[in-house]
This record gives sequence, C-alpha cells and structure tokens, in this order.
Amino acid sequence: MKRALFPGSFDPFTIGHYDIVKRGLALFDEIVVCIGINDQKQTLVSTQDRVAEITRIFANDPRVRVASYEGLTIDFAQATEAPFILRGVRSIIDFEYERGIAEANKHLSGIETILLFADPQHGFISSSMVRDLHKHGQDISQFIPQGK
Ligand code: ADP
Repeated sequence: MKRALFPGSFDPFTIGHYDIVKRGLALFDEIVVCIGINDQKQTLVSTQDRVAEITRIFANDPRVRVASYEGLTIDFAQATEAPFILRGVRSIIDFEYERGIAEANKHLSGIETILLFADPQHGFISSSMVRDLHKHGQDISQFIPQGK
C-alpha cells in the first residue's frame, strides 16, 4: 500500500488542489488530505468545516481520506505511515519554497516529497485569491470543486 499525505491549509480547498489529488491517485494507492492547524492564522473556513467539505468532495473515492493535524507534517506522516508527501507547484516561487521544505523533511525523516506541476488552467488559482474574491462579494463557485 503506497500512501501519501497531501498537506496544506486548504482555506478553501480549490479545483487546483482537487486536480493534484486526482492526479496523485495515479501514483499512490491512498492519499490522506490533511489540514495543518495553525492557531496563529485567521481562516475563512474553520478546520472542522474544511474537513467536512473535503470529505464530501471525495465521498465517492474510498482511496482519499481527510484528516487534520497539529505540529510537524513529518511527524503526522510517520504517525499515518505515509512515506510520501504530495505537493503542487505553480511557479518558480512555489518551487523554491517546496524545495526547501522537501529537503529539510528528507534530511530529518527520510520522507520523500513528490511534486506535481499545476495544470496550466489552474496555475493562477490560490486559496488566498479565492478568499479575497469572497471577501469582496464575488461568486467563487467556479474555483471550488463540486465533488461527484
Ligand atoms: P500551504 O499553506 O501549505 O501552502 P495550500 O493549501 O496553499 O497550503 O496549498 C497546498 C498545496 O497545494 C501546495 O503544495 C500548493 O503549492 C498546492 N497548490 C495550491 N494551489 C494550487 C493550484 N492551483 N494548482 C496546483 N497546486 C496548488
């Protein structure tokens, strides 16, 4: 059983995140979408509601699990018995950020990070952009996966 964690804030979970999970399922037997809890961050959607929403989106996909965690991602990966971390890359800025974390995680735990490039159609979508549009009264439904 090849299991990967897909950690993130997912505030909110977008069609860009959805695409990474779907494509990740071609590489892994099981993906655990996990919401990192950061008490310092003011979020649009509560952790509980994010877990419920992502669970609903993947309700028909038994290979996707949803969880939340506090503390280090590598500690949660080890507790979940996931030797892989899945992440998405939209730009060189994402790449440099992911490279630093991936190298630290590999050094500290041996956990490998697998990066997938964002679908070009989703490269401009970020949770912060979606939050901002929502704040200013825009309809964000086109950026939120509907699930099956
Ligand atoms: P974090 O706060 O940990 O960066 P995010 O929820 O913003 O969490 O993102 C989680 C992962 O999804 C990151 O690897 C990020 O680069 C990736 N990601 C975010 N938006 C997209 C997108 N539109 N397409 C592909 N990957 C994305």
